Amino acid sequence: MFSLDQFPLPFAMDALVPYMSAETVKFHYGRHMDTYIKNLNKLIAGTEFESMGLGDIIMRTAGHADTQKVFNNAAQVFNHAFFFQGLRRDCPRAMPDEIADSFGGVDGFRREFKAHATEVFGSGWTWLVHDGTDLKIMNTKDADTPMVHHMRPILTLDVWEHAYYLDYQNRRAEYIDAFLEHMINWCWVGQNL
Ligand code: MN
Repeated sequence: MFSLDQFPLPFAMDALVPYMSAETVKFHYGRHMDTYIKNLNKLIAGTEFESMGLGDIIMRTAGHADTQKVFNNAAQVFNHAFFFQGLRRDCPRAMPDEIADSFGGVDGFRREFKAHATEVFGSGWTWLVHDGTDLKIMNTKDADTPMVHHMRPILTLDVWEHAYYLDYQNRRAEYIDAFLEHMINWCWVGQNL
């Protein structure tokens, strides 16, 4: 069984103001993420998945129609935990050279990441991943997550509408810019490289 306490926010609710409001964090973390956890617990109770870790549940349920609901909720718990870990405003570190160099510089990374995040139609995620050889940017749809595609996640942006609607309404591009310029915890991202 999982609980929100296992995935503590690495910052105060109002730490990302003015780029992400305390209200957005409260709803996104305290309601949306918590609901995925509660739904997952209900779905795995009394099943073979009950005693597994999150990563094992995700890998075992991916691509199987009969376990789609378990996958969706487990992957969304992972995706949200990963997303919140990547946000922070008090990290003094700039974008690591390894990332900038892979995309033709800081602006090149931002351009490519923004192009991907803008392209997500409906609900999904934009990720910086390592494919075993190179750093890449990829999108996933709905709850889909890089580990299923044998990619190691480095950083992610939630582009489901619930992630930005309270603060930006339909202006996704402004949310993406705020993320890229002001909200990434490069200290944590650097540890993932
Ligand atoms: Mn979300």
